[in-house]
Amino acid sequence: TEAELMRSQRLDSLAMLAGGLSHDLRNILQPLLMVAPMISERTDDTRLLRLGELVEDCAKRGLDMVASMLSFARGARQAGSTVNVKQLLRALDLLMRGTLPRNVVLDISDVPNDLNFEGNDTELQQCLLNLCLNAIQAMPSGGTLTLRAERTWVDADGQRAAGEYLRIAVSDTGVGMDEDVQRRLFTPFFTTKPDGTGLGLLSCKRIVENHRGLLGVTSAPGEGTTFQILLPLELETADARGRSETVRNARLL
Ligand code: ADP
Repeated sequence: TEAELMRSQRLDSLAMLAGGLSHDLRNILQPLLMVAPMISERTDDTRLLRLGELVEDCAKRGLDMVASMLSFARGARQAGSTVNVKQLLRALDLLMRGTLPRNVVLDISDVPNDLNFEGNDTELQQCLLNLCLNAIQAMPSGGTLTLRAERTWVDADGQRAAGEYLRIAVSDTGVGMDEDVQRRLFTPFFTTKPDGTGLGLLSCKRIVENHRGLLGVTSAPGEGTTFQILLPLELETADARGRSETVRNARLL
């Protein structure tokens, strides 16, 4: 319809604007990030040192926001395509191998080869990477990072329609979270890390919701954390005559 076309054109221009702006902002912020530590290196004055840290911190935050704007710009322009889940996780495994601490084991052996999903692989990769990096940081003395994926039937509740979902779970055997932290997870800039941005999980949530999915968490302090992504494959919807009908996720996107 005309309204949909208008909306998609507006989204397109917004994406272009965000893309251009991010690019320019990055060129301003990157030099700041490089220069800030030089201030700290060249002085013993504690006030100057603190200012240097502040500049560095702000530049980092700015660059993180630029990164999420860029991913928004790309996401809005990129149509979904068929993503093979095992391939996505293998690529993630490769990407992370360089940064994986020696005492952390990544296990994707349980993931079946034949799981596919209509979606944006760059965004999904970004989301899984965020969850994995958080998991690694939660295991300073080592542990196991396990990724599982399966098709699963989910009953309807207040938040979701009944249907067949793709469930991806990222589990760690790390420090876990108390209830207070779990409640604040998706608040912008909420972080318990000295160098955290508090934007990682928010961006994950946005990506999952762009795919009409749900992001959930279960955690126990001292035992570990599991983040669960539910992405709709085929949903049951009631049509006008009250009959139930299944909708493939390709049509939902
Ligand atoms: P950041 O990683 O920059 O702090 P996030 O939004 O990704 O930002 O995470 C917010 C907070 O959630 C973290 O600071 C941490 O306290 C908590 N958190 C996220 N993932 C985990 C995890 N796997 N185990 C324990 N705590 C976690």
